[in-house]
Amino acid sequence: MVLDDLGSSLRSTLDDLRGKSRISEDDVDDIVKEIQRSLIQADVDIELVRELSDSIKQRALEEEPPGGTSPRDWVLRIVYEELVDLLGESTELPLEEQTILLAGLYGSGKTTTAGKIAWWFSKKGLRPAIIQTDTDRPGAYDQAKQLAEEAEVDYYGDPDADDPEKIAEEGLLETADADVQIVDTAGRDALNQELIDQIERIENTADPDRNMLVIDAAMGQSAKEQAQEFEETIGIDGVIVTKVDGTAKGGGALAAVNETDSTIAFLGTGETVKDIERFESSSFVSRLLG
Ligand code: GDP
Repeated sequence: MVLDDLGSSLRSTLDDLRGKSRISEDDVDDIVKEIQRSLIQADVDIELVRELSDSIKQRALEEEPPGGTSPRDWVLRIVYEELVDLLGESTELPLEEQTILLAGLYGSGKTTTAGKIAWWFSKKGLRPAIIQTDTDRPGAYDQAKQLAEEAEVDYYGDPDADDPEKIAEEGLLETADADVQIVDTAGRDALNQELIDQIERIENTADPDRNMLVIDAAMGQSAKEQAQEFEETIGIDGVIVTKVDGTAKGGGALAAVNETDSTIAFLGTGETVKDIERFESSSFVSRLLG
C-alpha cells in the first residue's frame, strides 16, 4: 500500500509503535509532531497543519481501531485518511463539450497547462481548442500557438488585439466546432486589481463550465491568499498543480484546495504537452509526507 512510501522520519516514529498493543497519548504526540514537521517542510499552511494534527490526534485517541489492527497501522490509516479526505478525489471531468478557463499568476505554468489539457482531452477522443487571451505578455500568442501545434489541436489568438474579453468572445465563436474550449488568461507577478477585473470580465464573457486555478508546486504559503482571491473573483472548480517533477512537495496545493473548497484535477510533470497526469490523492499524500 502507498502508506509504505510515507516519509522516512514519520515511518521510523511509527516503527517505534511496532509490537505495542496500546497507544499512549505520548505516542500520539510524537507521531503528530513528526507529521507536523513533514507537512511544514512541504510548505503546508500552518493553520491547516494545526487543524489536521488536531483531528489526527483526536481520532487516534478516541476511536477504537478495528479488531486485529495494530496501533501503528491504525495511526497510519488515520493520517492517510485525514489527508486524503482534505484533498478529496480528483476533480470530476466529464468527457463532454465544455469550456475551461485557466487562471493563475504569471509563471505558474498556465499556458503550458492549456496545451497539456488540450492534449489530454484529444487523447480521450474529444476535439479541443486553445484560446489565448493574454495580451500583456509578449510571446504569449506564439507560445500558445506552438503548444497547440504540439498537441495537434485548434488554436485561436490575435497578436494585434488588446482586449482580452473580445478575444475570448471571438475565439469561442471561431473554435465553436471544438468540443473542449480552453481559455488561457494573462497572469501577473502578483494578484492586483487589474488582473482581478480582467479575469472577471473574461469569465463573464466566456461563461466557462469550469474555472481551474493553476499553481506552481513551489508556491508554498502564498498559495492560500492567491486561491482565496481567485475563488472570490471567479470561483474555482479545480486546481492544477504544476512542476511536481521539481523538488517542491506541493504543500501549497493543500491550502488552495482548502480555500477554494475544490479538488485537484491534474498534476503537471514536465515541460512538454504530454507531461500531465490526472491527480491521484494517495501518491500526492506520500509526496507531501516524504
Ligand atoms: P504562465 O506564465 O503561467 O503561462 O506559465 P508558462 O506556461 O509560460 O510556464 C512557465 C515556465 O514553467 C515555462 O518555462 C514552462 O515550460 C515551465 N513549466 C510549466 N509547467 C511545468 C511542469 O509541469 N514542469 C516543469 N518542469 N516545468 C513546467
